[in-house]
Amino acid sequence: MSERIVIVGAGHAGFSTAETLRRQGFGGDITLIGDEPHLPYQRPPLSKGFLTGEYDLERLLFRPPGFYEDNRITLRLGDPVVEIDPAGAVLTLAAGEKIAYDKLVLATGARMRRLAIPGADLENVRYLRTHDDAAALMGSLNSAASIAVIGGGFIGLEVAATARKFGKPVTVLEAADRLMARALPPVVSEFFAGFHRQKGVDLRLCAQVGRISDRDGKATAVETAGGNIDADLVVIGIGVVPATELAEQAGLSCENGVIVDMFARTSAANIWAVGDCTYHQNGWAGSRLRLESVQHATDQAKTAAASIIGNDEAYQAVPWFWSDQYDLKLQIAGIAANYDDEILRGDIAGGQFSALYYDGDALRAAYSVNRPGDHMATRRLLALGRTLPRDAAADPDVNLKPFIR
Ligand code: NAP
Repeated sequence: MSERIVIVGAGHAGFSTAETLRRQGFGGDITLIGDEPHLPYQRPPLSKGFLTGEYDLERLLFRPPGFYEDNRITLRLGDPVVEIDPAGAVLTLAAGEKIAYDKLVLATGARMRRLAIPGADLENVRYLRTHDDAAALMGSLNSAASIAVIGGGFIGLEVAATARKFGKPVTVLEAADRLMARALPPVVSEFFAGFHRQKGVDLRLCAQVGRISDRDGKATAVETAGGNIDADLVVIGIGVVPATELAEQAGLSCENGVIVDMFARTSAANIWAVGDCTYHQNGWAGSRLRLESVQHATDQAKTAAASIIGNDEAYQAVPWFWSDQYDLKLQIAGIAANYDDEILRGDIAGGQFSALYYDGDALRAAYSVNRPGDHMATRRLLALGRTLPRDAAADPDVNLKPFIR
């Protein structure tokens, strides 16, 4: 009998694992299980081009339907896994069916953190994670007179930028004293705050949201410590939590996600985990990380696929991220967890700059706004384990390309 690999979760991480296994020559059975009813699709455009109507579901698909048949990948969609029995190597779907596996990959992702305040479950209060969330939000956006966004992270700000493109009044309520504080250094947060304000967003930092008030079951205002914000559409983007319920039920070690090693192996034999749900040992950073990004999902999927077929290669990828807001492209390479020097390069006021972070002589991270060349060069340098002389970093006219040769 041929070997059976079952992948739970059909997002970026799950899909990439299946695809990479086939590309690397795995000849056994692959089953990809997703709880949403749609063919596997990309999420990044959901908060951008999908909301403006530029993308539809067909354009979001990773691959057309024929791909799965051609590559002998069995898709099980719209029927979530509810239980895993690692001793029996079998899992159970919500509809009751049992599926046996030889090797299992958990790619269960993350879910939106829910805001626990009165009114958060009203009809015109929306979250954004899935295609169906985005489709519902798109309908509400078109008819909304004024929008309140709770959370000044990636989701909140990308939605705010899209809503401003439609000319809608938008208020962003962020609990912290700066935007995207978990992901960005202060100088980049400040730039984005200024830019959103310039584009007409009413940005309130240090906002304390108390409740969402309603009339006839529909949200009409967000009540904050600083006053009421009228809104007939409220969008909440206050972060995610890793989806570890199945892993915990199966007895796998979990802490801030499913714990995996540098090869994406969990604490149980024959079970790997990939993507947003993992708390992983990161070779590049030399520490444990939980990363919520497409890059991480696809890179770790490659590591898992290689390990499954017996080619263990430690996960070494440099973390990188991006966000599109208005005509700004923010690109991040590396992580500035510890730094003792910040070097700015370019024109902050003109919206074309990079902020580079050093720990001693080592370059640790670079945040680039509309300077894609800087991003590509610094990402490559970080991957090569090289640094960049500070005088070159500080001079925006110095071409960084020669440093990566
Ligand atoms: P996020 O980027 O973690 O941002 C959530 C923001 O909401 C944080 O600034 C957080 O502040 C704030 N917040 C938390 N509780 C709040 C409250 N009660 N009131 C007001 N603000 C509050 O998460 P997200 O924007 O919800 O995005 C969800 C996921 O999708 C993330 O994994 C994100 O990386 C991913 N995503 C990525 C992109 C991209 O890379 N371009 C785009 C969209 C989504 P604290 O940090 O202080 O808690």
